[in-house]
Amino acid sequence: MRYALIADIHANLAALTAIMADIECRGWVGEVWCLGDVVGYGPDPHQCIEYLKQFEHVCVAGNHDWAAVGKISTSEFNPDAAAACHWTAQQLNPEDVKYLESLPTTVQRGDFTLVHGSPRKPIWEYLLSTGSAQENFTYFKSPFCLIGHSHVPLIFESDKAGCSLSEFPANDTLMLAEKRLIINPGGAGQPRDGDPRASYAIYDSEMGAITRYCVPYDIGATQTKMEEYGLPASLVARLSYGV
Ligand code: ZN
Repeated sequence: MRYALIADIHANLAALTAIMADIECRGWVGEVWCLGDVVGYGPDPHQCIEYLKQFEHVCVAGNHDWAAVGKISTSEFNPDAAAACHWTAQQLNPEDVKYLESLPTTVQRGDFTLVHGSPRKPIWEYLLSTGSAQENFTYFKSPFCLIGHSHVPLIFESDKAGCSLSEFPANDTLMLAEKRLIINPGGAGQPRDGDPRASYAIYDSEMGAITRYCVPYDIGATQTKMEEYGLPASLVARLSYGV
């Protein structure tokens, strides 16, 4: 069976539909594993939820998902993120609110634990360093953990010496073996690794492998909508650069 690993869609429907079209070209997947932050920042929060619901999928809660429905506060958000969150809240219908409110913080799927931030603090913690990643390996039991939140494609590996960190380049295939891993497939709707293309990965359970892909999408279409809706200019601009 094949699974799509998609993190941080961030209400970017053009990016999400480009990813799903790319998946269709590569051979369909049985299930989408969504790693949180379906909404926030981007112009299509309602549309992204509706679109995602068309697919067999599981999804964990991200900080933006819960902030948009008032389940957590935006006090730790920067002003642009908070402004986008306030706008997002106004675009959601009662069904969307119900969907976001009921997202779990952690999902177990076979050999994988799915969270948005980290196994220790699923909503808020950013995993970008080996120090924090090493501590987090004790907070989940499965061999592998999938995360989002930082929007940076990374692989943390736990070994006897401690923890090591490597990049997860586009089109690279990661073979799963004995070593425990924490894997971030990169940001779908607002990448932050310098590559503005929509990032995602496919897990093939028969091969025991995860391959990361980057898909070009109509960034201008998303930006035009954001400008039209008065979303913060910095959030519009960053999509061009993937930062
Ligand atoms: Zn995010």
